[in-house]
This record gives sequence, C-alpha cells and structure tokens, in this order.
Amino acid sequence: MGRRHVKEFRPDEALGLISADRDGKVVPCPSCGAATMGRRPNRPEDGHLVAGPVTLTCAACSRVVTYIDRGTATPTAR
Ligand SMILES: [Zn+2]
Repeated sequence: MGRRHVKEFRPDEALGLISADRDGKVVPCPSCGAATMGRRPNRPEDGHLVAGPVTLTCAACSRVVTYIDRGTATPTAR
C-alpha cells in the first residue's frame, strides 16, 4: 500500500485499443467510455505510422497502455 501504481487496462481492452490504433482508428476509452484517449507520439496527419513505442492514455481515468508499433501501415486503411 502507498505505492503508486499505474492503472492499466484489462488485457482484452488493451488489445482492442492497440488493434484500433494500428488500424488508424480513434476509439473511446473501453474502460470508462470517455472519448479522451490521447496518443503519444501524436499520429502524423498523413496517417503514416512511425515505428516505435506508442503510449495510449485515457485523460479521464488515467489508464495507460503501451505497445511497440512496427510502423507497417495497413493498406486497407483507405
Ligand atoms: Zn478511461
């Protein structure tokens, strides 16, 4: 107790967020439903994904999920 703990999503929620992010979609927080999911780094406007760690954070409930984006933009996006 007293130790600060980063709130995380449940595994299924995290997977949903990650797959949506890989598809270039913005989804509301699966935990609290707020449309306040933030992304770091910001998604480039041309939609070209940059390889590297991506952090998705809900501003409402502070849950965080991190994954490594391989930078392979899916051609099905448009
Ligand atoms: Zn939330």
